[in-house]
Amino acid sequence: MTVVIGFEGSANKIGIGIMKDGVVLSNPRRTYVTPPGQGFLPSDTARHHRGVILTILKEALEEAQLRPSDIDCVAFTKGPGMGAPLVTVALVARTVAQLWGKPLVAVNHCVGHIEMGRQITRADNPTVLYVSGGNTQVIAYSDRRYRIFGETLDIAVGNCLDRFARVIKISNDPSPGYNVEQMAKKGTRYVELPYAVKGMDVSFSGILSYVEEAAHKMLSSGQCTAEDLCFSLQETVFAMLVEITERAVAHCGSREVLVVGGVGCNRRLQEMMSEMCACRNAKMFATDERFCIDNGAMIAQAGWEMFRSGHVTKLEDSWITQRHRTDEVEVTWRE
Ligand code: MG
Repeated sequence: MTVVIGFEGSANKIGIGIMKDGVVLSNPRRTYVTPPGQGFLPSDTARHHRGVILTILKEALEEAQLRPSDIDCVAFTKGPGMGAPLVTVALVARTVAQLWGKPLVAVNHCVGHIEMGRQITRADNPTVLYVSGGNTQVIAYSDRRYRIFGETLDIAVGNCLDRFARVIKISNDPSPGYNVEQMAKKGTRYVELPYAVKGMDVSFSGILSYVEEAAHKMLSSGQCTAEDLCFSLQETVFAMLVEITERAVAHCGSREVLVVGGVGCNRRLQEMMSEMCACRNAKMFATDERFCIDNGAMIAQAGWEMFRSGHVTKLEDSWITQRHRTDEVEVTWRE
């Protein structure tokens, strides 16, 4: 029996989760929500996390009905992510590990998403699409690494959607992407947008600039509605993501596709991905917002796998890094 507590705070969500041999014992989380039209800055986000982290830690232990002495290992997000929030959360993880006398494991955030997705859905060896506010990657496992087959060349798909939400001034509560998704359901007219797939990679910054300009012109002249633009933007960027995922699936001969990350709970993306999978005799797996949005349990789950296969992070090596690629981690826990 191995119990791992995981600390996550690489962006505007802060979560602490406890995993015991594949079972989620607790997974409380808070989100730093900014007013409409505004993004979240690293220093403000870190201040938010500092303000709530000890309350969340108490909740995580109470809900799991555990004492610190029941914990075997403390896992925390090493990166990638925003510097100030990462530092804040790592500092608390390091402190409790020393107070409690427990080993530390530094976890790659992307690997956390993949391992939580595999655990929850029981997908065994999927081609993974990881899509969020900060990341866009198509990943598949080979020879002890999660290999990146394709990725964004500029901004993440979630960042594209979030920044568009800011342009049309819709709420960031619970998340801008969720509100874009709801508005997109009411869109009736498809506005043609640039489509930017480059081999296995995608690019979103040009699409964002184009739709920002279109929003100002087309909305003021009544050519289309904000709902139409949400719909068109989703259809375009999701088609791009399904295209590069399909290419990786074809290359790997995959029978499974797993969608993880905050954008992964978008139902329209899941629907489009399922259609592609059906054509290729593959199965599509996704999780709901508890596990696809950043959370502490995913760091605990990856930490559990790492700890059990021999990873321990020494105190002097327990720094964070804003850039930490998925394929830097040696995957010692898979065949
Ligand atoms: Mg994430």
